[in-house]
Amino acid sequence: MIDCARPNRALAALKAYDPGHDLVALRARFGAALVELGSNENPFGPCAGALAAIKASLASVHIYPDPGGRALKRALAARYGLDAAQITLGNGSHELLMLIAQAFVDPGEQVVFSEFGFAVFALAAQAAGGVARVVKALPVESIQPRGHNLNAMLAAIDANTRLLYLANPNNPTGTWFSQDALATFLADVPASVLVVLDEAYFEYVDSHEVADAQRLLDHHPNLIVTRTFSKGHGLAGLRVGYALSHPDIAHVLERLRESFNVNSAALAAAQAALDDLEWVAAAVADCVAQRVWLAAAIRALGFVVTPSQTNFLLVDFGRPAAPVEAQLFAAGVIVRPMVGYGLPNCLRISVGRAADNQRLVDVLKDLK
Ligand SMILES: *Cc1c(COP(=O)(O)O)cnc(C)c1O
Repeated sequence: MIDCARPNRALAALKAYDPGHDLVALRARFGAALVELGSNENPFGPCAGALAAIKASLASVHIYPDPGGRALKRALAARYGLDAAQITLGNGSHELLMLIAQAFVDPGEQVVFSEFGFAVFALAAQAAGGVARVVKALPVESIQPRGHNLNAMLAAIDANTRLLYLANPNNPTGTWFSQDALATFLADVPASVLVVLDEAYFEYVDSHEVADAQRLLDHHPNLIVTRTFSKGHGLAGLRVGYALSHPDIAHVLERLRESFNVNSAALAAAQAALDDLEWVAAAVADCVAQRVWLAAAIRALGFVVTPSQTNFLLVDFGRPAAPVEAQLFAAGVIVRPMVGYGLPNCLRISVGRAADNQRLVDVLKDLK
């Protein structure tokens, strides 16, 4: 018999990504009354052009998609002023984050990321057999509470370090760092260490204070920027993300990538989504306005809200948040517990439509 208690060494230490509640069951139970504020999705969904492209793609669903995703790569290259050879497509950026560690980290090599950094970084490091070096985050009293401490991350790099993951803005904290901070940091990272910059919330950034790593690609051949169509573009269900990098890095990733990792509906939808920036801008503008409203409403109730440049808020209740979460849950409002991140007093709350945010605030007003 296969001993499932002993898969390969890397996997023995690995716990599966926690996607939160069983939303399929909850949708069946609550129907349209369910308020889903747990997964940082775009409540407006994709633009009409993307929906039309999905429908049109169904006519050729019996044939394999373009294994190179070339049309989408060309569109992304044109958007960013890059060469298509600098782009790698993924079945969501989650896949790319895993693939990067698999492709570049040998067992025993060190992978650096921050405490309260995105959960997938730890998974990716472990799956590759890497040794995770978790760097203490900034203190909760700092201007970026629990944000990445770039200086400490730099200091954690040693001769055994192969890869470093950053998220900007970060999930679940919503915190960020500036272009200057990133440029200074990258200038000090040894050229032999890969730096992955996860910018899943890039579209939601409305402050000039937040770095745009793509602008540094030309100067740093060890930099990989990952972005996604799941958040701002409203295509989480189709799974498309992309990495921007030096062509040599893209070339390595291409060798390991599954040949048809991005399906035909996703390729078509993503390309159409890129063409309708007005839609994204409108969804983001709504989210930013709601983010401001929701943060103020929650602070008015006496809870601590971390400043955010994303489509979610990290809320610290100053006491165990499980009973708060239970009351929200009973009212059909789904948020994300943060126990797994070592933040038992916190909940991560996605910014939804106005009516959904109001429902959430109403429950918080009546906390027992
Ligand atoms: C949502 C998220 C992603 C992953 O999104 P995909 O749907 O896999 O593209 C990556 N990084 C962070 C920080 C996220 O919050």
